[in-house]
Amino acid sequence: MPECANEKFDIDSSIRQIRSRMRPKRSSPTQYVAAWSEDDLIQEFADEKQDLATAKLVPVKAFVIILRTRGCFWALKSGCSMCGYINDSCSGEITGDDIMAQFNAAMQRYKDEAIVKIFNSGSFFDTQEIQREIQQKILRELSGKAKKVALETRVEFVNEKDLQEAIEAVKPAQLELGIGLESANDAILEKSINKHMKFEDFVRAASTARRLGVLVKTYMLVKPPFLTEREAIEDAVESVRKASPYTTTFSFNPMNVQNFTFVEHLFHRGEYRPPYLWSVAEILRRAKPLTNARLQCDPTGGGSRRGAHNCAKCDDAVLADIRRFSLTQNAKALEGIMEIKCECKEEWKDKLEIEKFSGF
Ligand code: SF4
Ligand SMILES: [Zn+2]
Repeated sequence: MPECANEKFDIDSSIRQIRSRMRPKRSSPTQYVAAWSEDDLIQEFADEKQDLATAKLVPVKAFVIILRTRGCFWALKSGCSMCGYINDSCSGEITGDDIMAQFNAAMQRYKDEAIVKIFNSGSFFDTQEIQREIQQKILRELSGKAKKVALETRVEFVNEKDLQEAIEAVKPAQLELGIGLESANDAILEKSINKHMKFEDFVRAASTARRLGVLVKTYMLVKPPFLTEREAIEDAVESVRKASPYTTTFSFNPMNVQNFTFVEHLFHRGEYRPPYLWSVAEILRRAKPLTNARLQCDPTGGGSRRGAHNCAKCDDAVLADIRRFSLTQNAKALEGIMEIKCECKEEWKDKLEIEKFSGF
């Protein structure tokens, strides 16, 4: 019987127990987690009034920096059921100078990429992670260098005043805010993901950002724990429909089982399988006509047992088409996936029919 079927089951306490067994790695406070360059698309707007449906998408390079901070405030208390980012945080004290040193070291590798993404596996606007003057310094440093600067934050830290200051600091670059919504279903957010927010919190934060002209990238989790394969597809499609008015890009994260997470605990007990890549393709195919937002997906760990996978024979071909679609938005890539023939497709279809609904 899955744990969630037990009335006394409390996901928050389970996550706290799992986290208490984790021993943070010792890491230097001046050493950034990672930095790399990748392909991406940028929305080009002719003027402020042009809407998303007619904006041109242009292929560009993006430079990604992952900064090490004290970690996401929610992960430090409890955390989301799938998130192991806290493994990358710094167990000791970390000062503003340390963060600036990380940023400067990473920028040595910057090669004028049009987009710069500053991620900290938490919230850029949380001053407990990155002090306000350091946020401002980083943004001012990027103004005039990048065409677009992308940041991530939880909804609690989105307010008009801080956003306005960030817009001023980074201009003329466009600002994009990444917000982890995961699912627009409050029951799933609470009982399956332990997200510690409701859909209406996302609506408030994303509306504030959009009102100020900030782009909003909404992260969606594909196949939260306890959901069947079919429920996971329906949840992702329905979430796109609900979040579309507040979103300029949807970024789908098919589950990747990370260390020291509640999802890993289920995985070891044989109670969780990451989504099929067929499901990911099906979500993209069905979501495309529902929104003008860009749909993006580059499955971390795709093709492995811990990431979204089909069978060893077709994983590479399906992943290549998903990535191609993500970078072109051309629905033909998705039609191509549907035409790929493999025995595991029948297994997937059977699963969609026979799995007992969990009730989400
Ligand atoms: S998914 Fe985001 S909000 Fe949740 S614990 Fe991880 S970093 Fe924090
Ligand atoms: Zn296959």
